[in-house]
Amino acid sequence: ACRSEQLVRDLTGLGFADVTQDYILSKEYVELILQEYNYKLPTGSAKAQVTAQTVYDELRTPVNPRQLQRRPPVVTIMGHVDHGKTTIIDHLRKSSVVSQEHGGITQHIGAFQVVTPVSKKKITFLDTPGHAAFLKMRQRGANITDIIVLVVSIEDSIMPQTVEAIRHAKNSGNETIIAVSKIDKISQPKERERALERVTADLIAHGIPLEQVGGDVQMVPISARTGENMDLLEESIVLLSDVMDIKAENSSKVAAEGWVLESQVNKSVGNVATVLLKKGCLQKGNILVCGNTFCKVRNILDSAGKGVSKAMPSDAVEVIGWKELPEAGDQVIQAKNEATAKKYNAKRMALLEVEAQAANVERLNQERGLSRGLNDGHAADEARENGDEDEDEEQQHLPAGPQKVNFIVKADVTGSVEAINESIGSLGNDEVVCNIVSSGVGPPTGNDLKMAQITNGKILCFNLGSLPSEVINNRSGVDVRQYNVIYKLIEDVTSVLTDSLPAIY
Ligand code: GDP
Repeated sequence: ACRSEQLVRDLTGLGFADVTQDYILSKEYVELILQEYNYKLPTGSAKAQVTAQTVYDELRTPVNPRQLQRRPPVVTIMGHVDHGKTTIIDHLRKSSVVSQEHGGITQHIGAFQVVTPVSKKKITFLDTPGHAAFLKMRQRGANITDIIVLVVSIEDSIMPQTVEAIRHAKNSGNETIIAVSKIDKISQPKERERALERVTADLIAHGIPLEQVGGDVQMVPISARTGENMDLLEESIVLLSDVMDIKAENSSKVAAEGWVLESQVNKSVGNVATVLLKKGCLQKGNILVCGNTFCKVRNILDSAGKGVSKAMPSDAVEVIGWKELPEAGDQVIQAKNEATAKKYNAKRMALLEVEAQAANVERLNQERGLSRGLNDGHAADEARENGDEDEDEEQQHLPAGPQKVNFIVKADVTGSVEAINESIGSLGNDEVVCNIVSSGVGPPTGNDLKMAQITNGKILCFNLGSLPSEVINNRSGVDVRQYNVIYKLIEDVTSVLTDSLPAIY
């Protein structure tokens, strides 16, 4: 007991706040403490840590710049509701490769390809950009889109969701093309001219560098109803993708890589996943890993449901032969053989378990800290009021490592709670991370407020309707924020994390 008391004293000396004998140290802290006691760390510990999320990266073939080949651009259509996205997609789908070959019958598999009328080049369009899978892919740093077509109605010009789409386009680093939609609605040439000028001015005011003012963003006035200028829109996409020089390795010698756009169980063929291929050449008989499952590719279907022999980069195909159903938004990587796939599936599962345990340790510390806080909260409050604590000074002794920003998540149903925890739990970098102190269903309770106060956390409420004013205007001054749209919440958490970083001069 004596030695452990000494350790607790030493740790406090090192700058750990509130350390008691039941405090569980994280691996990072243990490493720091060992350094402090002049212990040499075992070699290899400096190596980048493999996590469940990165373990499949070991299967990838490194990029060989000399093997890069042009691939079709992958395009997402965004814009305000009712500005004509669906109508544009339907129009494009009718001219898609397979619908021309198969009399107009295309299935919705999450993406389709067109061959442009003049230049005869391929474009891949994603047809469900609002989808949860896209959110998941974006959070994993996957930018599966190359070009965003931003639709702006000639009648309404810029609306709230247009502004959001502009922000997204800027943050994602994607190139943008503006499609001014529904031009058939204004037939009088002078009037149409004036309306276009208004849209142009609004876009420029929102920081879009249009060609008209010497920038490089093309603007194409279209009508998806009459088809006017739809060919021009497609050719503008081709022109932009030529400038972007979009490439990938397409040889079957490299490990194929892609993302699951959609997945479902089909009564006759079993588990099916739409895979957007990013690299390599996918063929029957290939072995793929994805999430907790793997696939021996039995069949590959195009968006007409027709069997094809292979898929190339930027193709979206249905892949059949999955052991378990893979999840939309998960990455797919080719493994050499079934034994390797199984080995990596097992490795990932083991890492997931370790990570879950580590997360439990964090929670345990927090709970222990919290119960102490609840027990002697009064004393702590008094101490603070008397100025007994000099927090600034304490900060300087804190061990290095990412700064944690604490959140408490409250939402309408378990599904939302899980979705939010999953979405924001992984946000952050090596300087700052999002830390979910607790989460649950229903409006914030007194305990949640207490917890937020003790951990200096913010309470995030999702889909909870109007909250009691005692919660919103709580006396403890806890920051309670409300959301109805998940990506608004994610954006806000991201900006809180960014804002909490010290300024760099
Ligand atoms: P979304 O919400 O952005 O997908 O918009 P929709 O494609 O569903 O279109 C919203 C409404 O505008 C529908 O009633 C469409 O028929 C209509 N619409 C879409 N594009 C055009 C167009 O080019 N011209 C005209 N006149 N109406 C259009």
